[in-house]
Amino acid sequence: MNVTHSALQTSTLSALRCRECGAQCEAVARHVCELCFGPLEATYDYEAIRRQVSRQSIAQGPNSIWRYRSFLPVTSEQVIDVGTGMTPLVRSERLARRLGLRELYIKNDAVNMPSLSFKDRVVSVALTRARELGFTTVSCASTGNLANATAAIAAHAGLECYIFIPSDLEAGKILGTLVYGARVMAVEGNYDQVNRLCSEIADRYGWGFVNINLRPYYSEGSKTLGYEVAEQLGWRLPDHVVAPIASGSLYTKIHKGFEEFVKVGLVEAKAVRMSGAQASGCSPVAEAYRLGRDFIQPVKPATIAKSIAIGNPADAVYALDIARKTSGHIEAVSDAEIIEGIKLLAQTEGIFTETAGGTTVAVLKKLCEQGKIEPDEVTVVYITGNGLKTQEAISPYVGEPLRIEATLDSFERSLERARTLDRLEWQQIPV
Ligand SMILES: *Cc1c(COP(=O)(O)O)cnc(C)c1O
Repeated sequence: MNVTHSALQTSTLSALRCRECGAQCEAVARHVCELCFGPLEATYDYEAIRRQVSRQSIAQGPNSIWRYRSFLPVTSEQVIDVGTGMTPLVRSERLARRLGLRELYIKNDAVNMPSLSFKDRVVSVALTRARELGFTTVSCASTGNLANATAAIAAHAGLECYIFIPSDLEAGKILGTLVYGARVMAVEGNYDQVNRLCSEIADRYGWGFVNINLRPYYSEGSKTLGYEVAEQLGWRLPDHVVAPIASGSLYTKIHKGFEEFVKVGLVEAKAVRMSGAQASGCSPVAEAYRLGRDFIQPVKPATIAKSIAIGNPADAVYALDIARKTSGHIEAVSDAEIIEGIKLLAQTEGIFTETAGGTTVAVLKKLCEQGKIEPDEVTVVYITGNGLKTQEAISPYVGEPLRIEATLDSFERSLERARTLDRLEWQQIPV
């Protein structure tokens, strides 16, 4: 059934269109408009999509992001499907109660496949398109998770892979790239400097950089975070979402995903409030939002939330526009609040997220405390990465195991001590 169904599909990708001047060009490996240097975005034949898909056809599709293939910028049948997407949408009980929300859901991309972050989505799409366009070498500039995803999925697809990272990344993210056999260049500089270097390399070597010359395809992968939530909520949109902002791509594409589902009639229209989360050590978008500006002032990142530390975010103006137009908020939280957010999610829901997820949970908490999320809004918080990859950020704040001898007596003495230890004292949350 499945095979017949997918064989009948034809490509819906029409062209690339400039988000600034509207000029169109062929869907090749290019990310800026030749006329005005604005960013290019994939466009589709929505009439064709509407004819191709129904709730039922999607539900019968693969258990991965590729069930939404009609909405993704690829043309071949041979997609790279390593089981990416369809991660759990968990109804929260304990965190919801703590925050005073009646209906809170956690979209858990900490367990995404194959490399445990939302970046598996964007890379599955980018590398499928890279292969269609004839690339044999792929690459990226990364704050860590993108490096893991690109290296892993390139290995699966048999593509040669070069990865560029800032040299101060967490050990888990470096190891989790090297193990797949990618060539890793640790650049002495911050992400924005790495990114600039990669633009020059992309021009000279003709490699497929997933987040540079393949960016129009890459970024579309994030729309699946919108589609999945809508489908998992029983084909309806939430009232309010909270998502992290680094370049602003994920945040803006969740919104695009919701809009497309409305456009082709898969869900009823609803004004979804879009709230964004940043770390105060790198919060150019939250700062512009606070000041009522529609442009950002680039910053030098200084935060433990390295995976979202982009000082000059490419999609900032679009993110600001969406936050304002949907009556959302963009907030920033300190490193101490991020640690607290990681522990809060772990201890109320049993989900261990990395610093980006700690940021998002801390912002969710802050918005609830400020009354900016109503108790009866159906709210979704996006958890985008796994805590085992950023252990050094949290390890000083989780306490130590109690060492005991292998005797019942020793156990009972320790048990008594453990019970008298105040939980907060035992697991210091920094202030
Ligand atoms: C990359 C990343 C993001 C957000 O990235 P955008 O550039 O805004 O699309 C969020 N969370 C994690 C864990 C990431 O790795």
